[in-house]
Amino acid sequence: MLIVMTARATQREIDGVVRVIESLGFRAHPMPGVTRTAIGVTGNPGTVDIGHFENLPGVAEAVHVTKPYKLTALDLRPERTIVDVGGARIGDGSLAIIAGPCAIESREQAFSVAEIVQRSGAKFFRGGAFKPRTSPYTFAGLGEEGLKILADVRQKFGLKVVTEALDESTVDLVERYADMIQIGSRNMQNFTLLRRAGRSRLPVLLKRGMAATLEEWLLAAEYVMAEGNYQIVLCERGVRTFAQHARNTLDLAAIPAVRRISHLPVIVDAAHGTGRSYMVTPLARAGAAVGADGLMVEVHAQPEQALSDGAQTLTFDEYEQMVNEVRAIHKVIAQAGVKFAKNSG
Ligand code: PEP
Ligand code: MN
Repeated sequence: MLIVMTARATQREIDGVVRVIESLGFRAHPMPGVTRTAIGVTGNPGTVDIGHFENLPGVAEAVHVTKPYKLTALDLRPERTIVDVGGARIGDGSLAIIAGPCAIESREQAFSVAEIVQRSGAKFFRGGAFKPRTSPYTFAGLGEEGLKILADVRQKFGLKVVTEALDESTVDLVERYADMIQIGSRNMQNFTLLRRAGRSRLPVLLKRGMAATLEEWLLAAEYVMAEGNYQIVLCERGVRTFAQHARNTLDLAAIPAVRRISHLPVIVDAAHGTGRSYMVTPLARAGAAVGADGLMVEVHAQPEQALSDGAQTLTFDEYEQMVNEVRAIHKVIAQAGVKFAKNSG
């Protein structure tokens, strides 16, 4: 159920509706917008009688939501969500660049990459301290020691830190040191982890499961939102297909598809999405061209010596060149967007 308030509804009227929702044992999710506030209702086992709400002061209409996702949908929030990551924004029309090594390997390694990332004008630094590795015998990250290095990167370079939590207990640690919790592809349907992230004060970067449909992905975001955390960035990182020329098949069509139904920002991970460094820049360009709110890439001083994902990692020179190119493309797309809005409006 979705309750749309009138444009003139007062805060007192909004609070009144929230109280009625809660008195019925449901959860209210007020979403203030530019023109009106809408209130999502979750926790109801079946359909709720519209009659409870229709005649409350300030209510324009109460509607049943037939889609499986409620809070992630544009129906609830027609304006795009802007996600605040430690003071830097994703989804505000700029092109967010999240760059860094696959894994934090040492302070020297992390600092060398952070210097280049900062110099490029990117605001976000990535790097795993807890790595979900396919084989139990490969490097799984430095753990809390890696998080401490990330916290130092944040301090020294002023970059916002995005890092993965693998389970509920690592969310506790990530909250202590980072600015954004990454939930990886393998964990997209780890529902206890999603709920825990939903109770966090930190924004969440939710990667698409490697075999997840759009609906499953949005429902995963719904788990986080249903707990009260509305600050989510979706990340397309490629899906499994028959193709063998790349590690994954980057599903660029997912970007306009998500934007059509959801208010959440969506970014493209051109590193995991391809698995081959020579494909990263072309697909990052494509991500900017297709209207992504941001890009994620992996960078290392010596990719061939990286402890994980070296094959998809950019050198410093490649990274700097890539940033210039995607910025130029984003500028064209942003201008075209403004022109299109004028022509169609
Ligand atoms: C990563 O970003 O480090 C990662 C492991 O990505 P994914 O979950 O998309 O495989
Ligand atoms: Mn990686």
